[in-house]
Amino acid sequence: MASNGALDARDRGALLSRLATERFDVLVIGGGITGAGAALDAASRGLRVALVEARDLASGTSSRSSKLIHGGLRYLEQFDFKLVYEALRERDLLVSKLAPHLVRPVSFLYPLYKKVVERPYVGAGLVLYDSMEGTRRPVPRHRHLSARGALKRAPALSPDRLAGAMIYYDAQVDDARYALTVARTAAAHRAAIGTRLTAVGLLRSADGGGAVTGARVRDEETGRVFDVSAEAVVVCAGVWTDLVHELAGVRAGYRVRMSKGVHIVVPRAAVDANTGMIVRTEKSVLFFIPWRDYWIVGTTDTDFAGDRAEPVATEADIEYILSAANRVLARPLTRADVIAVYAGLRPLIDLGSSGQNGAKPTTKLSREHVVDTPVPGLASIAGGKFTTYRLMARDVVDAAVAGFGREVPGSVTDRVPLLGADGLVAVQPAAGRLAEDYGVPREAVEHLLGRYGTLAVEVLEEIRADSALARPLAPGHPYLRAEVAYAVRYEGALHVEDVLVRRTRLFIESADAGVPVAAEVSAIMGRLLGWSRRRRAAETRRYLELVAAEHVLAGMDAGSAPDLALAAAR
Ligand SMILES: Cc1cc2nc3c(=O)[nH]c(=O)nc-3n(C[C@H](O)[C@H](O)[C@H](O)COP(=O)(O)OP(=O)(O)OC[C@H]3O[C@@H](n4cnc5c(N)ncnc54)[C@H](O)[C@@H]3O)c2cc1C
Repeated sequence: MASNGALDARDRGALLSRLATERFDVLVIGGGITGAGAALDAASRGLRVALVEARDLASGTSSRSSKLIHGGLRYLEQFDFKLVYEALRERDLLVSKLAPHLVRPVSFLYPLYKKVVERPYVGAGLVLYDSMEGTRRPVPRHRHLSARGALKRAPALSPDRLAGAMIYYDAQVDDARYALTVARTAAAHRAAIGTRLTAVGLLRSADGGGAVTGARVRDEETGRVFDVSAEAVVVCAGVWTDLVHELAGVRAGYRVRMSKGVHIVVPRAAVDANTGMIVRTEKSVLFFIPWRDYWIVGTTDTDFAGDRAEPVATEADIEYILSAANRVLARPLTRADVIAVYAGLRPLIDLGSSGQNGAKPTTKLSREHVVDTPVPGLASIAGGKFTTYRLMARDVVDAAVAGFGREVPGSVTDRVPLLGADGLVAVQPAAGRLAEDYGVPREAVEHLLGRYGTLAVEVLEEIRADSALARPLAPGHPYLRAEVAYAVRYEGALHVEDVLVRRTRLFIESADAGVPVAAEVSAIMGRLLGWSRRRRAAETRRYLELVAAEHVLAGMDAGSAPDLALAAAR
């Protein structure tokens, strides 16, 4: 009974009344990749599902990752074979079957500096890595390169001490778009997905057992509080997990330790290479990840204890990344190359009530996940990786339904392609025809196919209805105005931030963070959502304040961008 899974922001009233009146089998708290995955897992087993997210879908860690769908080469060194094995199989499933429109292979060059020792060591690791793949093999095997071969692919590398390189393959994804697409696919299976709804309490049965029977939820748009009832509550709150456990007054068998990871974004031209790169650092590794016209370079891994909602990069984080990058580059990157910086928090598992992990550095903590059911009716999960979200979702839903006392089918998500994947092979070759039919350039259609798969046609329909939406949103960027309207009508965008930070990625892809087009975004959204002139200006200002705060905290030039947009909002 799948529908098109539209998360239409204009239908929020109907959604809220559904949440307040229906009795659900499973209520998921948290709309990152884990929560979206759990909602899809449960809904595709035929259960009645609701999901509440305190801010926007993927606004936590799930929009701030390295955006790799990978086994994690470095976890082999930590003998985390199970994690690597599972992650590689998931990678292959996503690339070949579940989300080929969103998850794409990417190559990484691993430069070698110690001729005799390093090549056999890294080579053996890559043989093991490749051998853990499934039978599908949607990405090529690794290869050895000479120093000359390495410099041909990556002239940006300094030839000093370079002894050769290896090339291996993983995959990459727009993390926020992926999480959103999983949530939409859950909605296509009738899940009720609500954003800007914070779980502020957990409901407990009065019959002595104290089982959790739902959650008290605050609508952040209006302040209204209401209850959502469910047979089981599933907590997928990432670094907020301990806080949600506290709402129920329960202590789970694990705690979440936060580790901050920072990335910088630099223009593609700043690093001359036709492949991604991975280089060793003292404590871990540093990635150069190709990202459209940019490189994402990172990351750091440090304990964190500040504001979970807005972790920010410090000057020291940025300097660390620049200096680690410059150790291998012929032309050093400077602060002037950095067009954006973002920080995210890894929700790492600490079984430290027993003191087990307390003293370990965060780089050494396992990336595996843990599921717990601290009281009847409550299952919670944390840890893990974006790559393994589907397995995490399966495990936490299994734990939640174990207490139902009736037969519930097992997980089927390994056979449920995400929205936009079905029929992709037949739509891709039709790009030229679609361009003609809708009167847009072929590159625009290709851009849309790369972001929405077969759903690109829905975006094109926005253009058919209003040809002004065919225009680019921001000069020098591929996004179309139609994508703003689509974000409201199909992707649940409620504020300008949702569109500029996560539905599009202008926030990290543009040195001005998309500020000059914030007023235009607000105008397009406002027409659909019935915003007054005053409200449109307020929504634009809200985005500027966010950018100003992030830029100031990250020590970037905060002056120009917000001023520009303030002018635009007038
Ligand atoms: C720097 C960095 C790089 C990474 N790179 C990779 C990578 O390349 N590949 C990979 O596989 N993994 C990577 N990871 C790990 C991966 O990003 C995370 O494991 C994953 O995104 C966590 O998702 P989540 O849904 O558990 O948490 P989140 O995305 O944080 O989602 C939790 C959600 O719960 C919501 N919430 C909290 N409290 C409440 C409440 N009371 N009511 C309602 N909602 C609530 C929050 O608003 C949030 O949206 C990286 C992580 C970091 C930090």
